[in-house]
Amino acid sequence: MISQEAIARLRAAEIGPRKLFIDGGHADAESGAVLPVVSPIDGREFAAIPDGGAADIDRAVRAARSAFDKGSWSRAAPARRKKVLLRLGELIEGHADELAVLGVRDNGTEIAMAYRAEPLSAAGTFRYYAEAVDKVFGEVAPTAEAVLGLVHKEPLGVVGVIVPWNFPMMIGAWKIAPALAAGNSVVVKPPEIASLTLLRLAELAAEAGVPAGVLNVVTGRGATAGEALGLHMDVDAIAFTGSGPVGRRLLEYAARSNLKRVHLELGGKSPNIVFADAPDLKQAAKVSANAIFRNSGQVCVAGSRLLVQASAYDRFMEELLRATEALKVGDPLDLGSDVGAVASEEQLEKSLGHVAGAEAEGARRLTGGTRILAETGGSYMAPTIFEDVAPTMRLACEEVFGPVLAVMRFDTEEEAIRLANSTDYGLAAAVWTANLSTAHRMVRAIKAGVVHVNTYGGADITVPLGGVKQSGFGRDKSLHALEKFTELKTAWIAL
Ligand code: NAD
Repeated sequence: MISQEAIARLRAAEIGPRKLFIDGGHADAESGAVLPVVSPIDGREFAAIPDGGAADIDRAVRAARSAFDKGSWSRAAPARRKKVLLRLGELIEGHADELAVLGVRDNGTEIAMAYRAEPLSAAGTFRYYAEAVDKVFGEVAPTAEAVLGLVHKEPLGVVGVIVPWNFPMMIGAWKIAPALAAGNSVVVKPPEIASLTLLRLAELAAEAGVPAGVLNVVTGRGATAGEALGLHMDVDAIAFTGSGPVGRRLLEYAARSNLKRVHLELGGKSPNIVFADAPDLKQAAKVSANAIFRNSGQVCVAGSRLLVQASAYDRFMEELLRATEALKVGDPLDLGSDVGAVASEEQLEKSLGHVAGAEAEGARRLTGGTRILAETGGSYMAPTIFEDVAPTMRLACEEVFGPVLAVMRFDTEEEAIRLANSTDYGLAAAVWTANLSTAHRMVRAIKAGVVHVNTYGGADITVPLGGVKQSGFGRDKSLHALEKFTELKTAWIAL
């Protein structure tokens, strides 16, 4: 773990204007325009990024295509790709302090979480897919003797990666690493409010030996740079994590352009279900508070709907309130902070709007609901809990993506299942029970990409992550993620 001294040194580092990373080198946006980078820690501008547009995306896609066609990466011996990606994992880990502090200055996640979730997780992801390069390969089909049927796995070509600001390195690595491992060239469009770590990642990739043009990063706004990537006629696939409305746009862009593959990892309204026979209610309450309030609730799998069995309701809520009040919200670069800043003023306003809406609809606020630490100039919000939330209220249906928890009661298992499945989302869930049969029945009945049992979060790179229903249909992580970035080609050979 990083030390407070290292944080103090790195938080003072001058960042200044950054550049795009195209074809192995730095470049300005063709228009010359820049976007200010404002830290949610104190509201101060501390860097600037190019406001890339369609011309820059086009330049990056051309570089990516040219590198792909040359074959220095796409047709490199697997052992070489493996070595380079392993080296990149090492470089990320070697720069973990720098990357973690840079990322926190950009998006406000508490450093204790960001350090593990961003550089360390990204390093592990690059190593995982590096190891897979020479272990995942094609098939020989069981044909009649007179023929030979081969199934080749080929890279797609140019992959566009578009990610959100909550964990740009972790989520970026979940897409960039398997895409590169499979031999593709990549163009990344980072989130406009947290681009700095992905720009640095491109530099480290070049240092590790990723050839020029194979990994390009074009910063800019979603509506301009993002749209241009989605519409580009020479991009073979888009791997996206973000909101539902933007996911829908990407599907439209694909339909209007070249029918590129689109993989969507979208939002959630994940149910966290506590049965009265949970093995340890106190521990369940502590984990449940973390499941919604860490990173100020800006976690795609956040347990934002808490369903508690009526017979344990009062006992559990007492523990939950205690655990919530024990969370220290403060400077995200203080190792003692449990919760840092909300990523932007816009995001904070959105969460406060949900608070006002929940009160207007008759939900009961138990704690929080306000902006705090305004004297810092930064964007901070108190962890907020509402009870008596009816399943039809907006707070029960819409993703807040902020530190706001909706609590509901249930009596029976059937009622818990009905409530759990009552939203348009299906990303994650948790069940707390000591009864093995209840746990397995719930895992089967809940419509979600992941169901945790007696824990929340923490699923590592070995297992897939993705949603059902309107939480999307892509799968990040695990060997399955490689399927998004490879094409199957059949060779049918008469012998
Ligand atoms: P967002 O959809 O607003 O932005 C995501 C990315 O899309 C950004 O890089 C943005 O610049 C880009 N974008 C915006 N408009 C675009 C357009 N018209 N064309 C192309 N690209 C465009 O989402 P956000 O606010 O950055 O992130 C929050 C959302 O991400 C939440 O819904 C959250 O649940 C979701 N999320 C999902 C997962 C998951 O694994 N399923 C993980 C993290 C976050």
